[in-house]
Amino acid sequence: MSSYPDPTSSAAAGSVLAPDPFQQAAGEAGSPALCAAVRDRLREGGLRWTPQRRALIEVLAETDGHVTTAELVERCRERDPATIPSTVYRTLDMLEDLGVVRHCHRPDGREEYHVLPEHEHGHLYCRACGGCWELERDESDRIVGMLERGQGFAVDLSHVTIVGRCRACRETG
Ligand SMILES: [Zn+2]
Ligand SMILES: [Zn+2]
Ligand SMILES: [Zn+2]
Repeated sequence: MSSYPDPTSSAAAGSVLAPDPFQQAAGEAGSPALCAAVRDRLREGGLRWTPQRRALIEVLAETDGHVTTAELVERCRERDPATIPSTVYRTLDMLEDLGVVRHCHRPDGREEYHVLPEHEHGHLYCRACGGCWELERDESDRIVGMLERGQGFAVDLSHVTIVGRCRACRETG
């Protein structure tokens, strides 16, 4: 379960902004397929396939897209009470290097992971309802292009988190 409400479950919030497709893509990713893909990448990278790594990957495969580090540690502990948080953190870093996961930041700064993101994207977070949406590709292209042309700055799009109030909350608030 995500720590914030599923935007697709709210007719009001979901009526204008598209739900984040990575929540759907990750939900579709079957655990065996993801495990096999990750195992291959670990081997290509010369890394061992350990029970702890496997447990984390199985947990990731069951997530619905965005998941915080604390939630991952908690779910790994449900499987194996001896789970050590630092091992989870190190494995997440390793999986990110391999392109298996990608992190962004919630408005409070906490890291949140995506499983097998297909492309970089930024997020909109509504402070009122806690909803989260992906920036449309053309919107993020404009933001990134503007900063690159104006400032010569290369934006890390996965770290673009724009916080505010969604249309539905503005209309009802
Ligand atoms: Zn970061
Ligand atoms: Zn809202
Ligand atoms: Zn996302």
